[in-house]
Amino acid sequence: MEERGLKIFAPEGEPTKSDEVFYNPKMTENRDISVIAAKTFFAKADIEKPNIADPLSGTGIRGLRYSQLGELYLNDANPNAVESIEKGLETNNTEAEVSNDDANVFLSRMPNFFHFIDIDPYGPFTEFLDSTARAANYQSFVGLTATDNSAPTGSYPTVCRRRYGSRPLKNGFMHETSLRIYIKEVFRNFARYDKCFEPKICFQYKHYTRVMGRVTESKRRTNRNLGNIGYLSYCNECGWRKLERVEKCEHCDSEVQIAGPLWTGKISDSRFTEKMLEHFPEKWETSREIVELIDSEAEILTPFYDLHELCSRHGLQVPKRDKVIQTLERKGYPVSRTHFGPRGLRTDAPLEDILRIID
Ligand SMILES: [Zn+2]
Repeated sequence: MEERGLKIFAPEGEPTKSDEVFYNPKMTENRDISVIAAKTFFAKADIEKPNIADPLSGTGIRGLRYSQLGELYLNDANPNAVESIEKGLETNNTEAEVSNDDANVFLSRMPNFFHFIDIDPYGPFTEFLDSTARAANYQSFVGLTATDNSAPTGSYPTVCRRRYGSRPLKNGFMHETSLRIYIKEVFRNFARYDKCFEPKICFQYKHYTRVMGRVTESKRRTNRNLGNIGYLSYCNECGWRKLERVEKCEHCDSEVQIAGPLWTGKISDSRFTEKMLEHFPEKWETSREIVELIDSEAEILTPFYDLHELCSRHGLQVPKRDKVIQTLERKGYPVSRTHFGPRGLRTDAPLEDILRIID
């Protein structure tokens, strides 16, 4: 197998046995965006030789893709994985420290040591949060993938409350609610160690969610960001939503549903995503397009609207999305498309104005 010019020694597809190592091509965009994000972070950070950890390395492809950025530490609990990693390193002429430990043991051995940690598990990342927060340097970057989206998108609310301590909401923008629950959980875990996690680029794509951000040692910054932990109110009668806990819908006065606690701040930093776009190779088109969408919506806070859902709820014909965007823009509202989906629209305009424009 090959990805972006690197050779990998594993079959493609889904694993059939628990100890099988496999290569998942569906994660190529995740790895592309992660490489560019790390590169963007290190371009500005003053770190001579960054220590980079891939604690759940699998085939080793993720770590291999970071080889230009610093000193690699690849780890996997599965001896078969370690074999593929070593083969991959040799064939691609790359050096790394390789270990065969449980990921939490691996990370716990090196407190404050890593300048970039990439957690890429099957399922939730929650069981690795504690050791990741400890192993992250005071000036570092962290990326985490979650593939347990059904719980925080509201299909299994009890699992979500157990795993993330938050109440989810199953509706048209459930993937944004779940992303905000993930960010909240990462922020809280780092805050326990007086480390501040700030989201730089966070997104949902295909079957997974990705949270990436900067870690600093700043009690003051952590305290300030505590203000970004809160609740979301949603009216199931008219589709109104707000990143705040309120009693009644401000559009139709009905009772609202509440989700949270979750992250109510920005889910990406447009200064960072703008810089990322400068680093993208031309050939990585799909990944670049995802980041362009994330960049365009980064400054708008209100959870996105699914135009089809909004129209069917209000008995309206679905208009062309670009037309709605143009009209809202002309009226001076912040508005954009969204990476969450082709029917999505993100704007801070009041619901009555959006509905008036569609009608
Ligand atoms: Zn309402």
